[in-house]
Amino acid sequence: MEKRFVYADNAATTAPSREAIEAMMPALTDEWGNPSSLHTKGQRAKELIEQARATIADRLGAMRSEIYFTSCGTEADNWAIRGAAYANVKKGKHIITSKVEHHAVLYTCEQLEKEGFEVTYLDVDGDGRVYPEQVRDAIRPDTTLVAIMYANNEIGTIMPIEEISAVCKEKGVLFFTDAVQAVGNVPIDVHKLGVDMLSLSGHKIHAPKGIGALYIKRGIRIQNLINGGGQEAGKRSGTENVPYICALAKAIEIATDKLGEVYKIARKRDRLIDTVLKTIPNSRLNGPREGRLAGNANFSFDYIEGESMMLLLNEEGICVSTGSACSSRSLEPSHVLLAIGLPHEKAHGSLRISITHETTDEDIDYILQKLPEVVLRLRLMSPLYNG
Ligand code: PLP
Repeated sequence: MEKRFVYADNAATTAPSREAIEAMMPALTDEWGNPSSLHTKGQRAKELIEQARATIADRLGAMRSEIYFTSCGTEADNWAIRGAAYANVKKGKHIITSKVEHHAVLYTCEQLEKEGFEVTYLDVDGDGRVYPEQVRDAIRPDTTLVAIMYANNEIGTIMPIEEISAVCKEKGVLFFTDAVQAVGNVPIDVHKLGVDMLSLSGHKIHAPKGIGALYIKRGIRIQNLINGGGQEAGKRSGTENVPYICALAKAIEIATDKLGEVYKIARKRDRLIDTVLKTIPNSRLNGPREGRLAGNANFSFDYIEGESMMLLLNEEGICVSTGSACSSRSLEPSHVLLAIGLPHEKAHGSLRISITHETTDEDIDYILQKLPEVVLRLRLMSPLYNG
């Protein structure tokens, strides 16, 4: 097969779509006014923001006033946790989360611990799942917030969010879910889910990097994130990034329109998973077979290192990652893989392949040709391998 370029790292970021880029153009060309200005120029920019907010609210089943724009998913995660923790200290200082959250959540919780809060980090099962009963057992009278991600960015596990949310409601505890990887993969209706807060990020769904949003249910007590000119209902000041907000709305519109076609991505993923497991000995799939993100495949290959595989695949024109993009600069094995019970050496030999609507059957064929070659080449160099 001829050498080709295959981008299979969509859990790290996606290519901005032509539609999302076009949606930015009015705010970059004619409607560049300051949305806080009361004159026509400003008010036109304000209208663009409010239209975008209405679209996003509609697609999430929320009210317009419940959507707040942020600069990224990380900011939304930080705000939800810190903001709710501090606004509810009178009730208590105990927070519950899981061991497999994104670092945007884990490091925020660790910081809160340094500031006098207590955090319970729930274990997960071998597939990376948290169960509602675990949450119920961990809730104490002083628990104010539970933060469990909707879908895991490394191994693709989809969590039982509706059930966890029901437990939190019954116990009178706030529930936040990081849905950065879930948007566009599973239908999201905040009322059906019963969540109090939900975060999302543009660049995972073909909008540019640097835009996110936080859904905050009406009536939820949360501290302001940034004080200043009073934008975002006074909670998150700063002149709005109008072009990116428009792109985010367009990206969410497209992603939710395409939800009915997600099964096509899952089919390609399944062919990839089945063939890899069948043709490469001593390989394993990390994360569940059922209930995983349509585009996510995460493997461990014995005797070799994820970094070496990633680099050799890159030479062949294939972009994938080892663990999460954020931890790929660190030599520590992924906290998610350790949490599902993988020993260090298996966690080190992991590779995440994440595909999207744009991935073709030929792309999958190419990965399926190159990956076994790369694995064998590295194994033949490994002192641990005697196959
Ligand atoms: N949460 C999850 C589950 C993610 O996968 C990511 C990005 O990798 C983030 C949060 C952070 O989002 P952003 O890159 O927009 O800050």
